Amino acid sequence: MVDTVTSEEQTANVNKGLDPIVKYENVHKSFGDVDVLKGINLDILPGEKVAVIGPSGSGKTTIIRMLMTLEEPTSGHIIVDGKNLWEMEKNGELVPANEKHLRQVRGDIGMVFQHFNLFPHMTILENCMTAPTHVKKMSKKEAKEQSIQMLEKVGLGDKLDNYPNQLSGGQKQRVAMARALVMRPKVMLFDEVTSALDPELVGEVLEVIRDIANEGEMAMVLVTHEMEFAIDVADRVLFLDEGVIAEEGPPSEVIQNPKNERLQTFLHRFLG
Ligand code: ADP
Ligand code: MG
Repeated sequence: MVDTVTSEEQTANVNKGLDPIVKYENVHKSFGDVDVLKGINLDILPGEKVAVIGPSGSGKTTIIRMLMTLEEPTSGHIIVDGKNLWEMEKNGELVPANEKHLRQVRGDIGMVFQHFNLFPHMTILENCMTAPTHVKKMSKKEAKEQSIQMLEKVGLGDKLDNYPNQLSGGQKQRVAMARALVMRPKVMLFDEVTSALDPELVGEVLEVIRDIANEGEMAMVLVTHEMEFAIDVADRVLFLDEGVIAEEGPPSEVIQNPKNERLQTFLHRFLG
């Protein structure tokens, strides 16, 4: 059969039609007998920017750590680009995923943490080159080129040979972003990446995230307390409260015209 795509279908694709890049299906997570996430259902479309807001302890970090394979769901499914993350098929049956499967599916995901997590004994160029050479088996030459390109993108092209302790918090966080970008993820996770920074350094980091977001093609999940930023960048906002998505929609609704009472109280703290 000849594969024909009409221009309308193409437009639909560009307008992020079809299949979600990430899908959570009734995901639960407990630590001991504490139920932290109580049935998360969530589709993230290719290129979509999703902000996650909510009180401390509501499960924001846990949601994205499961996608980064740092925590295993207690039940439910997480599907990345059509592949089940935590389970794999073996002899026609679904069995728990092994390390190799997890590593493969997670290859589409990048994460930036609140506390940078850079390797202190490596230069920032080496920090960026490690994962592509070891995990993606990229040649050293190519990893170096790509790393320099990404470090230039985040405004650190003149710091390649510096060590993390020679950089400001804002610069460290930009290295962490370049390091994640070198892996060319389809989805980037940002966990309160500005909340450990001195206030005067927050702007430069948000600026870089904004630039990356404007490039468009990568989906992003941004856990943040920066409401103005979320209004600017996010296509959709989720309000997480006590382990459920209590409200979701465009920022103009969720942040600027919230319905949920607990969300209204929560937002008062940020918007005055
Ligand atoms: P948030 O990021 O919204 O502040 P978290 O996802 O970090 O919330 O945590 C949600 C709840 O799960 C909190 O009550 C927290 O104490 C608990 N929790 C998170 N990680 C663990 C863990 N590894 N062991 C036990 N409890 C945890
Ligand atoms: Mg958190």
